[in-house]
Amino acid sequence: MNTKPTASAKPTHRGFLSDVDAMFLRAAELVPMQEGLSQKIQVCNETYITRFGVRLRGQMFTFEGWRSVHTNHPVPAKGGIRYAPNVDQEEVEALAALMSYKCALMELPFGGSKGALKIDVSEWSEAELERITRRFTQELARQNFISPALNVPAPDMGTSEQTMVWMANEYLRMNPQEINAVACVTGKPVAAGGIDGRTEATGRGVHYAIREFFNTECELNRTELPRALKDCRVIIQGFGNVGYHAAKCLTEDRCKIVAVIERDGVIKNDDGLDIEALKAHFDAGGAVKGYSGGSYSEDGAKALEDPCDILIPAALESVIHTGNAERIQAKLIVEAANGPVTFEADRILNDRGIVIIPDLYANAGGVTVSYFEWVKNITHMAFGLMQRRQREHEQARLVEGLEEALGKRFTDEQKASFATGGTELDLVRSGLEEKMRSTFAKMSELREENPDISDLRTAGYVLALTRIKGFYEAIGI
Ligand code: GLU
Repeated sequence: MNTKPTASAKPTHRGFLSDVDAMFLRAAELVPMQEGLSQKIQVCNETYITRFGVRLRGQMFTFEGWRSVHTNHPVPAKGGIRYAPNVDQEEVEALAALMSYKCALMELPFGGSKGALKIDVSEWSEAELERITRRFTQELARQNFISPALNVPAPDMGTSEQTMVWMANEYLRMNPQEINAVACVTGKPVAAGGIDGRTEATGRGVHYAIREFFNTECELNRTELPRALKDCRVIIQGFGNVGYHAAKCLTEDRCKIVAVIERDGVIKNDDGLDIEALKAHFDAGGAVKGYSGGSYSEDGAKALEDPCDILIPAALESVIHTGNAERIQAKLIVEAANGPVTFEADRILNDRGIVIIPDLYANAGGVTVSYFEWVKNITHMAFGLMQRRQREHEQARLVEGLEEALGKRFTDEQKASFATGGTELDLVRSGLEEKMRSTFAKMSELREENPDISDLRTAGYVLALTRIKGFYEAIGI
């Protein structure tokens, strides 16, 4: 989402891609590498730009789109496609780089990629968006920038499971012989080859990340934060798929969501907002204004600076910058969006003792469950649609797939519970929880053991770079 320009408008800063590069370089200094390898890892391998025409409303409209591959060791490269009016190549490349680091940190066997189409979705009807998306898919598929083996998109800002179905269907039309065609995108509806729990996955992952932070004995959480998550007051920026699900999961843990910031302003309630009622209101009108269960103000950006325990930016990049970092009052920032804190703001916040759970970990729930979906697709399981015996057999295969994905074995007891009562959703949630738990433990251990690493972001980057470097070395580069 976009916050309106306000008195604390963003001062010019180096830019999103340079911020990601600066974060990379800060960590790369701590990872011994042969000369030149660090630079090779840092740069984007390739960016495909397409400009294509679609005849709509009796005239030709030209659209511009990108798909960037940051790493394709290993393949497929993975990452979302966003539809936004002000996106550009640099933003796509920065997001692709973040996908590489995210997948490496989470130990998912994917390279990093990202795509975008420059479009304001609110200006087009559903039928028009379908035609535009199918046309965009043709362009991407012709160049192998969408392919189950090479490059697998997913939803991101401005796109949804509906967009993914159009893409999957168009790809299948172009490649009817391709047995794995349905695995060409993830984030599909369950009825069209998706996996239960993918829609909520990023928000649920944000919740698991916060829970791990509170459950782990480490110096970072001995700040002024309440001891228990249930006593925390939370502000969320962005009430789309990620922000809404994060809010919903946190209220299940009895946290109070005291403010939700959206494009049109902020809605506040000190006693905690009713998230489901707010969602119903927001879905009806696309705005938080007018919701009767809280007080409304136009100045959304200013509300980022309100007192709270946890601030969750779940919208755009660079919303916390040198112009407001000094005034942020949250004790913990959880980056549900990609790149919401600029490099300079990150430094200011660290100096002020404000803890940041970084994007490459905090919002990795989406791509983690995308991996489960992709594994499900390429193993051709019709999970949930079968007779009990076959279902148990398929479930055992899914457990094996998850074990492979997680690099860990479930106990016989856990397997028995999956085989009898466990649904696909149970499996997905427990797999995601396990990934979030083990990754947090690794980041926090590395930080505690290494005197040169004081923050979780650097710990996450160091783990990711060490793995990417290991991959390049293993293949002899
Ligand atoms: N768009 C999401 C992200 O930024 C999900 C990517 C995926 O599932 O491939 O992580």
